[in-house]
Amino acid sequence: MKLTGVGASEGLAVGPAFVPQTGRPEPERNHITEDEVEPGLQKFRNAVEAVVGGLSETIDGLRQSGNEDEAGIFEFHAEMAEDPELASAVEERVKNLESPEAAVLAAGEEYAAGFAAMDDEYLAARADDVRDVTGQIAAELMGRAASGFEALQEPSVVLAKSLAPSDTARIEKGLALAFVTAEGSRTSHVSIMARSMGIPAVVGVGSALEGALNADTVAVDGTEGLAITDPDRETVAEFEKMSEALAKERAALDEYRHVEARTSDGRRIEVAANLGSASEAEDALGWGAEGVGLFRTEFLFMERDDLPSEDEQYDAYSAVARAFGEKPVIVRTLDVGGDKDLPGVDQVHEDNPFLGWRGIRMSLDTPDLFEPQLRAILRATSHGNLKVMFPMVADVEELKAAKKMLEKARAGLEEGGVELGEVQTGVMIETPAAAICATELAKESAFFSIGTNDLVQYTLAADRGNERLRRLQSADHPAVLALIRQACEAAKKANIPVGVCGEAAGEPEMIPKLISLGVTELSMGAPSIPRAKKVVSEL
Ligand code: PEP
Ligand code: MG
Repeated sequence: MKLTGVGASEGLAVGPAFVPQTGRPEPERNHITEDEVEPGLQKFRNAVEAVVGGLSETIDGLRQSGNEDEAGIFEFHAEMAEDPELASAVEERVKNLESPEAAVLAAGEEYAAGFAAMDDEYLAARADDVRDVTGQIAAELMGRAASGFEALQEPSVVLAKSLAPSDTARIEKGLALAFVTAEGSRTSHVSIMARSMGIPAVVGVGSALEGALNADTVAVDGTEGLAITDPDRETVAEFEKMSEALAKERAALDEYRHVEARTSDGRRIEVAANLGSASEAEDALGWGAEGVGLFRTEFLFMERDDLPSEDEQYDAYSAVARAFGEKPVIVRTLDVGGDKDLPGVDQVHEDNPFLGWRGIRMSLDTPDLFEPQLRAILRATSHGNLKVMFPMVADVEELKAAKKMLEKARAGLEEGGVELGEVQTGVMIETPAAAICATELAKESAFFSIGTNDLVQYTLAADRGNERLRRLQSADHPAVLALIRQACEAAKKANIPVGVCGEAAGEPEMIPKLISLGVTELSMGAPSIPRAKKVVSEL
């Protein structure tokens, strides 16, 4: 069977299929203290709300595509999640000092057993639904998706409806040979992660994925956007041949890894890497990164179930700073929300998370999260050339407020005797508002970095992860280019550099356009660096 979708990360792979099962999670703890009862009950209510919110979205989607029967199943799940009897059984257990996750799993099991014992075949089969939904509530309580990746033990091709950043962040290195997902586009986070990890990916194959879930083996061509289930011998041999050719093509780009990219009229373009974790730093240097144009710090928060401490963050930021020495490293403050959930923090369900409490909005509202991060970054500046960047800024007030918090963090550290040098602060231009207000923002910024992934999504009102909106997911659109031009002109007038750290920066056909608009730095998933340098050198 052939599945076609978007070639989201180039490369070829053939391997066993792995389908993550959303199994029942184990409780992290079984007991709580008296003090934790009230917060525990509130957490349980929030978790129910979040699960029901997610289910409502699924139900709406199914109804729209005419799948009434399936919608009915999920409606039952939603009813079950909100069942008052389930709630009182859980509350009773929590009041008896069971942890909310243990309580919901146990109460769910009791309920399921009740259904399973029924004579009516239909009702007996509802036991699994009860287990499923209470498992989801428990997973939500523990701040993680019930992802089932624990069972991934050998290098495999991962097939899934969608992959959240917290899923990809949890997959052990080397175990994912390729990703194939029903949903997603080139700029959804699974694609971004796949590119920076050098893992081939085909996303947005749609409902065809369901027919592939029983496959033993899958061959993936991430360049063409093609996956073949249970390939025959000839196909495997063809993939082997193509792999050799790709390896040769990559080897031919090697000579560009460590050149300083310059256009033929002498314009120097810095080519940097986007990193999701400190462990990628060495690899990125090997690909020829001249700095880090975007360190996505949220992944540090996502690959675990609790929040990293200030010291843990300091260690991660210092490690990147040290690895890059004098080369600039732009650390972006936490950008969660949208499709990036934060395990360890209760997030309320939002109807439109991409238009919701995300990026700088959340950071400014949660000093307990933001201040330790700012302190950790400032402390790490002594190890290299770190700069700070704020995401999702919509106006100059937000930028000023963020800078004020940075100054407060600095003052606190200096009072404690920590000596700090100058730290440049910059802003992401990823909302249309930021591009339109670029002149004002430039007065308060040492640099701009254009986040084309979100800029495209918000300008064209096209969800970056929706596989049906491919035509509207490219920065090569007159409206987006006009906003990029506006930002570049404002930056030029203010005499500050302007980079691009969205995926367009690594796309060979976009690079000439970005440079002609005035962009001076390109930052991308590290494996794309040699090709980008070649493109620049040939301009
Ligand atoms: C962007 O929006 O272009 C960007 C680089 O940020 P992220 O992809 O992390 O949202
Ligand atoms: Mg963004």
